[in-house]
Amino acid sequence: MIPFLDLKRVSQQYRDELIQACKRVIDSGWYIGGQELEKFEQNFANFCGTKFAIGVANGLDALILTLRAWKELGQLKDGDEVIVPANTYIASILAITANDLKPVLVEPDEQSLNISVDAIQSAITEKTKVILAVHLYGQLADMPKIMQIAERHNLLVLEDSAQAHGAKIQGKKAGNWGDASGFSFYPGKNLGALGDAGAITTNDAELARTLQALRNYGSHEKYKNLFVGVNSRLDEIQAAMLDVKLKYLDEEIVKRRQIAASYLSQIQNPFIALPLTGSDTQQYKQHVWHLFVIQSEYRDELQSYLKENGVQTLIHYPIPPHKQEAYKEWNDLSFPITERIHAQVLSLPMGPTQTLEETQKVIELCNAFLPKGRA
Ligand SMILES: *Cc1c(COP(=O)(O)O)cnc(C)c1O
Repeated sequence: MIPFLDLKRVSQQYRDELIQACKRVIDSGWYIGGQELEKFEQNFANFCGTKFAIGVANGLDALILTLRAWKELGQLKDGDEVIVPANTYIASILAITANDLKPVLVEPDEQSLNISVDAIQSAITEKTKVILAVHLYGQLADMPKIMQIAERHNLLVLEDSAQAHGAKIQGKKAGNWGDASGFSFYPGKNLGALGDAGAITTNDAELARTLQALRNYGSHEKYKNLFVGVNSRLDEIQAAMLDVKLKYLDEEIVKRRQIAASYLSQIQNPFIALPLTGSDTQQYKQHVWHLFVIQSEYRDELQSYLKENGVQTLIHYPIPPHKQEAYKEWNDLSFPITERIHAQVLSLPMGPTQTLEETQKVIELCNAFLPKGRA
């Protein structure tokens, strides 16, 4: 079976270094809030080009706590509107509703599948306070335009960079465009821990300081609580694992780009639409290919065919947030582009340890696919 992503093989590459780092933490006797976290935060901020990175327990908390911090700082209040793409992973939306803010779902751009700039503009009201831009599949949303709109309307911009570590536009990376950005280090992400982890990046010192307290019971100083905080810390072991893997992230991105380039140049089938990363072909070079997402009207048939032929694929995502039972109140809303995307997308195998042979086999199978009744 060609796996969608072989995490065991990914970890094996760095096994000795990971074990060394583990030993160092075990032998230090210090497991929460120490040097490993500090070192990783500094290195990750440097990687993104930001002044600050604040480690938290996971990517969802990174988003929740950032919105929460803006409430604590008086920049947001209950009921304020947050514009968010309707086709995002549900975490982006959970972060909004968890803060008693109002998600305003908007359609994506049909080419990039990232939030549509025109749709943002039409959705802005007096209550709009935040644009939550999600960099889906490893490609930045149109940040230059989004930042212009935000400036014009005095809005905060939160990036959801969970799928886009290292992606750039005009040389500026994910996490360094908005007022703040949430990252996930879930094992399957491009930079993954060996467990759950996340971080927020920002250039705003006051926000960073507030987040440092919020993740730790609302406290900077033991037993002095400034906020009604939570426990969402990134522990020393995971910080140490991430610091090992961060060194290799750029190399891994190169490998992902090579696989994407092969898929893009060699998959040719009228029943398969390849990802369009925007009219600017420069963008291909800036994409970090967390996922390689094709579309087909025969998606389910294509997925079964690939499976029968030994290729694992995944669907990101089968059900849009507004059709989820958790958000029953939105089930009748209509987002035709979003709904079509969810019916047609399929993610092909993609990862830093995928071999040339594996990539070739996926390409050959895709090219030989013929939907039933189309012979
Ligand atoms: C993975 C992901 C998250 C959530 O990250 P966790 O670490 O799993 O909480 C948020 N947003 C997007 C777009 C994601 O892909």
